[in-house]
Amino acid sequence: MPILPDPEPYVGRFAPSPSGPLHAGSLVAALASFLDARVHQGRWLLRIEDIDEPRTVPGADRTILHQLRTLGLHWDEEPVWQTRRHALYEQAFARLQAAGRVYGCTCTRRELPPGPYPGTCRPRPNPQAPQTPPHDHIGFPLARSIAPDFAHDETLAPPDATASQRQPAARPSSWRFLVEPGIETFQDRWLGEQSQDVAGEVGDFIIRRADGLWAYQLVVVVDDGLQGITDIVRGADLLDSTARQRQLARALGLPCPRVLHTPLIRDRDGRKLSKQNHAPALNLGQPLECLQQAWAALGFDRLPATALAAFWPQAMAQWRQRFGRN
Ligand code: GLU
Ligand code: ZN
Repeated sequence: MPILPDPEPYVGRFAPSPSGPLHAGSLVAALASFLDARVHQGRWLLRIEDIDEPRTVPGADRTILHQLRTLGLHWDEEPVWQTRRHALYEQAFARLQAAGRVYGCTCTRRELPPGPYPGTCRPRPNPQAPQTPPHDHIGFPLARSIAPDFAHDETLAPPDATASQRQPAARPSSWRFLVEPGIETFQDRWLGEQSQDVAGEVGDFIIRRADGLWAYQLVVVVDDGLQGITDIVRGADLLDSTARQRQLARALGLPCPRVLHTPLIRDRDGRKLSKQNHAPALNLGQPLECLQQAWAALGFDRLPATALAAFWPQAMAQWRQRFGRN
């Protein structure tokens, strides 16, 4: 018998924010991500994105775990909670500071015009100072290579004290990531080629908020990197974050996962279905119906399955046909 090569490693994840239970919209992303991992014989990890503590609803994490289990979406490793991972985010932040990619920003939301951050607090290169780190032709500090195993690195350089001392102490500052100029292009497995001019459309973005909380953009990149995520499957509301996350991953020496963004489902008024828009709760008394609706929201025809046990192989066969390895 021919020996089949090991499949390429695949590690996927579902990363819900526990600001409420799963709803019809978040289930679509969970279903697609789970199917994609199974079809690629990969692992599917669960990460509770509770870093935005003021928005966390107590008990919502347990509710989400229960909902996933009831629907038959079984994860492969102990789930992780972001609130237990502050030390990792601190290390990544220090890395970016040491590489000259972070600066404090004291602008308030009211002071800023709508649109991209205009770079008000961006440090200006000092023409008298020796050019370290070296700058490229447009004055952008070239990224230093950063070992991907920084989480295990005990010899981290201390944060760049001069950057913080430069800040006026009067106001708490947020911390921005200094973005690279140029167009960021990537392939989305659902949507095809995507590109964004991060510097022009977004500008230097916040990775640590003025209230001290870590921003989603930073923690998601650190976690995906440290958990070895190869494939991100999530809702298209996050498509706009992908280019930023790729820049951050590169600055940290982490690989950029492949991405697939699923279509958003909208309510009758055309608004994105979300917790804020009072998306209806999932009826766990009818798990098969919940899955059938999520499946249909992905644009597939309802499956003939009349039981959960039949739903899974039918859905996987179709997903494999469309998104599997050929
Ligand atoms: N926690 C985010 C959310 O619930 C998802 C983050 C991600 O998948 O990158 O919208
Ligand atoms: Zn500013």
